[in-house]
Amino acid sequence: MSVLIVGSIALDDIKTQLAEHKNLLGGSASYGAVSASNFSPVSLVGIVGEDFPKEHVELFRNRQIDLAGLQIVPGKTFRWSGEYMWDMNTRETRSVELNVFETFTPTLPEGYHQTPIVLLANIAPDLQHHVLDQVSQPRFVIADTMDLWINIAKDSLTRLIGRVDMLILNDGEARQFTGETSLIKAGKKIREMGPAYVAIKKGEHGCLLFGPEAEFFSCPAFPLEDIHDPTGAGDTFAGGLAGYLAANAAGGVTFDALKKAVVYGSVLASFNVEAFSLERLKTVDSAQIESRYDLFRRISQFEKI
Ligand code: AMP
Repeated sequence: MSVLIVGSIALDDIKTQLAEHKNLLGGSASYGAVSASNFSPVSLVGIVGEDFPKEHVELFRNRQIDLAGLQIVPGKTFRWSGEYMWDMNTRETRSVELNVFETFTPTLPEGYHQTPIVLLANIAPDLQHHVLDQVSQPRFVIADTMDLWINIAKDSLTRLIGRVDMLILNDGEARQFTGETSLIKAGKKIREMGPAYVAIKKGEHGCLLFGPEAEFFSCPAFPLEDIHDPTGAGDTFAGGLAGYLAANAAGGVTFDALKKAVVYGSVLASFNVEAFSLERLKTVDSAQIESRYDLFRRISQFEKI
């Protein structure tokens, strides 16, 4: 099965307390698509301006990502800049330039409408709705989001949550969205709004997965000594999870399959943060993924997965 991914494709300026880099490839769909491509065919839907470097398009092509849904239009690519504090967890957005995003209407090309697994990566909820309106009977729809949309587009986001099979968000967003201090209550509350599955990411502390009939999985994070740039960890997690499901859940998505998908998503995210932008993610291969997956299972003493 293949994965349809819609989201942002960006040029990022990133500052940590140790280094600063400008004009890096970024965006939720870039991270998500390259991550998912380790497991399954990917169709990418997004927009960039004419300033978008050709080498980034080549990177997507080298990963066999279908680019029929990539619009390259006159104007400037979406730009985002952020700065990380010492803990590498706290981040401040320095600037956002919507540029070509201001007029973006994601129209699915021929052949994309039947894609079984859909990842609505972080982007305005109205655009996520627009893509969902065009797909026909997808098997599993995953949506990611961010605090900005909870602040400025909560109604649209709430309607979207009622239309998807799985919502992914981080701990702060889950608390902000539900008004609950407890992440367990927050996860349950979001499930009651529609999605059968909810994943709450906790950065360096891992992730909580909630499923039907009170099924629950607490996944630790892979213990990394050197984190260079946390940007895109969440998008890489979501892409890895979606790609794993596309490759391994043809008979239907079960909680056991999702637990493995969460572990593989975490493994991909752990590679991503080892370098700025997609520099590490783009070099990772299946042997490295399997080797880290095995190590992760052993050190975390997972049973049955
Ligand atoms: P993450 O670290 O997973 O939150 O994702 C970071 C990526 O999200 C960066 O590469 C940004 O280009 C992208 N991004 C930041 N703000 C937005 C936004 N408002 N809409 C879509 N993508 C965004």
